[in-house]
Amino acid sequence: MTDRTDRALVGAFDALLFDLDGVVYVGPEAVPYAADVIADVRAQGVACMYVTNNAARTPQAVADHLSAIGVPAEPDQVITSPMAAVSVLARFVAEGSRVLVIGGEGIELALAERGYVTVRSLDDVPAAVIQGYSPDLTWRDLAEATFAVRSGLPWIATNRDLTFPTPRGVAPGNGSLVAVVARTVGREPDAVAGKPEPPLLLEAIDRAHAGRPLMIGDRLDTDIAAGRRIGIPSLLVFTGVTTFAELAGAIPQERPDYLGADLRVLVEPYPEVVTSDGHSSCGDAVARLAGAVIEVLGATDQPWDGLRAVAALAWRCADQGRPVDASTALVHLDSLRPPASSQAAGH
Ligand SMILES: [Mg+2]
Repeated sequence: MTDRTDRALVGAFDALLFDLDGVVYVGPEAVPYAADVIADVRAQGVACMYVTNNAARTPQAVADHLSAIGVPAEPDQVITSPMAAVSVLARFVAEGSRVLVIGGEGIELALAERGYVTVRSLDDVPAAVIQGYSPDLTWRDLAEATFAVRSGLPWIATNRDLTFPTPRGVAPGNGSLVAVVARTVGREPDAVAGKPEPPLLLEAIDRAHAGRPLMIGDRLDTDIAAGRRIGIPSLLVFTGVTTFAELAGAIPQERPDYLGADLRVLVEPYPEVVTSDGHSSCGDAVARLAGAVIEVLGATDQPWDGLRAVAALAWRCADQGRPVDASTALVHLDSLRPPASSQAAGH
């Protein structure tokens, strides 16, 4: 048992920063293996923090949800984008100001904790606008945001995720709703609080007193980019929204250090990826260049070592300004994934 722990990926870290949607749960349901793995790593003394761009719920509500799916959590382990948005707000307005809230009670609570007053109409003379996701958002809310932003008020978005995973498929996220307002008024928000901006992760690292943190997420442009932005390693899991092709095509600022099917990768030894010009390998899997095409060999029963090798080679070629086509290799690797019925999301 000790031997396995020593060699496992998690052994290199003293704190894990988990994104939630698409990593620990999808909608109301637990992601397979998440509860068992998190119990295992907590028992080893590794701090677990939960960082979510989802602005709809309070830390207490998130902690209750986690506990209900078998991941016991306290509110102080949960950092939400409204908490970061309220920190950013201080750059624009005085403490105690009225703030027009477009979104859920997570934003209202974060504002109240810092002495701001929530209003729901421009008629109540707010000094700023905070916009975050809520499943109950209506056209009237988006219209109110539009009137307020057009009147010249500072406009802060909790996050800009265009989508998030649900049990029925990918759904519009706050970024899509912010885009409705931005398109209507002809300008972008004055600030964005959530990942990939640093505040969420920095707060989590600070609270955990972490020296060797690992960021874990399912999105390249938020979770992985946030880790890169503050210079910490990151793990991408494929229980959420990212496709193999998106991984292989990732820009340098959005490339994860580690990847795996799901959180079990944390408690397993992580195989070394060796890359040279035109060639890379991971375990028994080999990726190599045939002209401008990446071929993958030796990936026969599961795709992950093959994907690690193909991504590493594709990134190296991209960095050398050499366009390559990995599509056939990636389609082959995708065919090695377990059937969708054993996955939490429809990917
Ligand atoms: Mg996510």
